[in-house]
Amino acid sequence: MEVPFVRVPRERGETTRRTLAEADLIADGYEIEVESGDLYIPVVDPNAVADDLEVVIRSAVERETQTTPADILGFDPSYERLGRAVLVDEDDEERAAEIAAAVLESDLPVETVLNKASKIKGETRVRDWELLAGENTEVVHREYGCEFGLDLAAVYFSPRLATERHRVAGQVREDERAFDMFAGVGPFVIPFAKRGATCVGVDVNGDAIEYLRENASRNGVADRVTAVHDDVRAIAPEYEGWADRVVMNLPHSADEFLESAVTIAGDDCVVHYYDIQHEDDPFGPGERAIREAAEPEYAVTVETRRTVRSYAPHELNVCLDVRLERT
Ligand code: SAM
Repeated sequence: MEVPFVRVPRERGETTRRTLAEADLIADGYEIEVESGDLYIPVVDPNAVADDLEVVIRSAVERETQTTPADILGFDPSYERLGRAVLVDEDDEERAAEIAAAVLESDLPVETVLNKASKIKGETRVRDWELLAGENTEVVHREYGCEFGLDLAAVYFSPRLATERHRVAGQVREDERAFDMFAGVGPFVIPFAKRGATCVGVDVNGDAIEYLRENASRNGVADRVTAVHDDVRAIAPEYEGWADRVVMNLPHSADEFLESAVTIAGDDCVVHYYDIQHEDDPFGPGERAIREAAEPEYAVTVETRRTVRSYAPHELNVCLDVRLERT
């Protein structure tokens, strides 16, 4: 079985193992191995590992003592991990309860099991959850060296976008001003601020903004983060011409906010525009909408057209990185 491992020189092995263990990142089901002076530590989520650690994929030896939910159930249930929670999507109540019991009985470092009880909905994009095990819907999630506290019943959060967020964060420069129009609990804002950017995050969901403030402190970047609880259309004029970078992660309706994005954009600004479109023309509608909102005041250059993930049959979640230069 191929799994992700952190590779470190043996002399740094124990310190690294302890750091990964404290972050609940060690995949306990596999053996830690030594080879040619390096220690290989299996990890549960390569995206959550700090940037300065090297991750390699290699075949792993299973530890015999480890009991997985599948061992107990006799089938392999599908689930996501978020901090010390397991998230399932089961319609059948009995099957959901059976999986929850097996998860708790297994050796997974998990205390909460949640079942998706609705689609994401409304302006705040929050879904309902059924608490199958554990005390509440709050979790602490780690992603690329950042830590996020959040309550799944009160805010939107998806760990599936971790790689995409890391890609965008990699473009951020130390001295820039970044504005996240739909910031949530801060998964763009916090890594941007960690790279030295001055950030503003806006959200219409007051709970998300409270978590964003808490997460800024938790990650030591509160001095570089302004969290605003408002409709971004109302606050945009206060930040006219302010931003070097704008993030628009509200697929389905980002086009309705392009006028505000153009207001916030400075003379030379990159906009990360997320969209969900049919696979036949996933980038065309977004590009046309951006040109319509920004031209001729700005010259518009599409720098990246990226498919983030498949969203539904024939529908793609995409991102356009677009540079706006004032003419
Ligand atoms: N960027 C975050 C992330 O990646 O986890 C959150 C993205 S979520 C898809 C969209 C967010 O936009 C939600 O937190 C929602 O509350 C917020 N939102 C929706 N309409 C808004 C508006 N008019 N002004 C500000 N925020 C809004």
